[in-house]
Amino acid sequence: MALRRLGLMSSTFLVMALSFVISFLSLLGQLRPWPATLPQGLLSLDIADELHYGPNATARFSIDYGRLTEAAPAAVLYPSSPDDIASLVRFSYASPRPFVIAARGHGHSIRGQAFAPGGVVVDMASLGRGRRARRRDRIKVPLDVVHRLLYVDAGGEQLWIDVLRETLEHGVAPRSWTDYLYLTVGGTLSNAGISGQAFRHGPQISNVHELDVITGKGDMVTCSRDVNSDLFYGVLGGLGQLGIITRARIAVEPAPQRVRWVRFIYTDFGSFINDQELLISISEEGFDYVEGQLLMKNGAANSSFFSERDSEKIKVLAAEFGVIYFLEGAIYYELATAYLVDQKLKLLLKKLSFVPGFAFTKDVSYLRFLDRVHHDEIKLRPMGLWDVPHPWLNLFVPKSRMRDFETGIFRGILIENNTPMATVLISPMNRSKWDEKMSVTIPDEDIFYAIGILRSATMDDWKHLDDQNDEILRFCNQAGIEFKQYLPHYTTRADWKKHFGLKWDTFVQLKRRYDPKALLSPGQQIFTTSL
Ligand code: FAD
Repeated sequence: MALRRLGLMSSTFLVMALSFVISFLSLLGQLRPWPATLPQGLLSLDIADELHYGPNATARFSIDYGRLTEAAPAAVLYPSSPDDIASLVRFSYASPRPFVIAARGHGHSIRGQAFAPGGVVVDMASLGRGRRARRRDRIKVPLDVVHRLLYVDAGGEQLWIDVLRETLEHGVAPRSWTDYLYLTVGGTLSNAGISGQAFRHGPQISNVHELDVITGKGDMVTCSRDVNSDLFYGVLGGLGQLGIITRARIAVEPAPQRVRWVRFIYTDFGSFINDQELLISISEEGFDYVEGQLLMKNGAANSSFFSERDSEKIKVLAAEFGVIYFLEGAIYYELATAYLVDQKLKLLLKKLSFVPGFAFTKDVSYLRFLDRVHHDEIKLRPMGLWDVPHPWLNLFVPKSRMRDFETGIFRGILIENNTPMATVLISPMNRSKWDEKMSVTIPDEDIFYAIGILRSATMDDWKHLDDQNDEILRFCNQAGIEFKQYLPHYTTRADWKKHFGLKWDTFVQLKRRYDPKALLSPGQQIFTTSL
């Protein structure tokens, strides 16, 4: 009980014989009054958290969206300010038996990347998510019109949907997104943050001016391209290894009012990717968003976009060809210039080679467009199809090997195994929009594709689907396809070294500098042995 009141809760604490954590927590539990050397802010939140979460607080932090793996932390920290987190990290760093610490954004990882087995999970949401007044404090939109620097300062714990809502009130919005907005700023910036805008603006990490970071020594550092730049570049795409992001200054642009949202169907893979590549090579006169998807013969065309009638028509086509593709695009516009959209679309259509009669359009608000996956979530949740195992695989594949990928994997492994519950995303990226200095790794070609094989499973069949993922990786390795995993999952040092390639030595140096005791984000399993 004392532990809970003091700010760190652990249902497993008493039974786990992990002495280093126990000594730390016992210390917290025993000392009165609260000593200045210990994290002060921990005291303030816990009564509320006890009410919210009950005694099994650690259970919620032992699983993630993937539901493929579980690992319990010894304790959970509910910080009320970044100082609380810094104090915790400093405490561990100075301890003779340091404990691992993982920032948890929204727990939307698949493979336990935000776990801290036996250590402390930091529930980033406690910094100010949900309650509107707190959110206002943690998302600020100063518009520096003089310097024409438009940005939003957002807490690392903030969900992108909240950043969007807040910025829209000022008539602006970030320009690069993820498909799904219930992810945190710190979580996606630790990976890359990609969606259909990345071909033009780069991933989310390319759209950051400045960061506040708490390093693995507990130092609070502000960094940018000019100040502490090694930390800035290292943290972006750095898988949480170098520091905990508590604030990001993110570029914004004037927000469009409306979106003309289109989907074109292809039966021929070559025409589909040629058109995608054409669209990411043209700028202002093209689409503002470009993505693509594969649809297998037994798959359902996403019903939140297509009408029932159109879905049926598409299904018939998919059944005839075994697999079809749809290219998804969006044109942003203002109501005042709405008359230009039809004209622009007409010109674009002339350049594309989709199946005649298979172009579908919708007109929606900017918010509705960006929040589209949440609309699917709302449908899937009551059907019990959201909180299920997700053996997902995300790969970056060089353009030159896309045909091999299609033959070997789309038409080979996927179709042969016929898994209709899969959403398969195929989105082209321009390498020039990614910053080589950042930690994220991508293929070494001007154009590459982000391929997401996103499957929902049951407790009975996820292992089988996961084996298929291994088969896909084996196929790529045997065929010499120089892919990179996005949201990577590896468990050996050799695999991580290969993943980072030429960036590995720099990454290790940065780790030695900013997290020398390897305290942070242990769930990534990169630095499991000594540095
Ligand atoms: P978590 O899963 O909680 O954390 C991820 C990692 O980052 C962990 O290692 C954690 O320790 C670390 N971390 C968390 N917060 C911080 C912080 N503040 N500072 C430093 N490290 C931190 N990704 C895309 O790029 N594009 C998409 O369109 C996209 N769509 C998705 C849709 C769904 C339904 C889901 C489940 C995921 C999607 N993702 C997408 C993947 C998503 O980017 C990752 O899951 C990412 O980890 C963000 O999730 P999170 O904020 O919950 O972070």
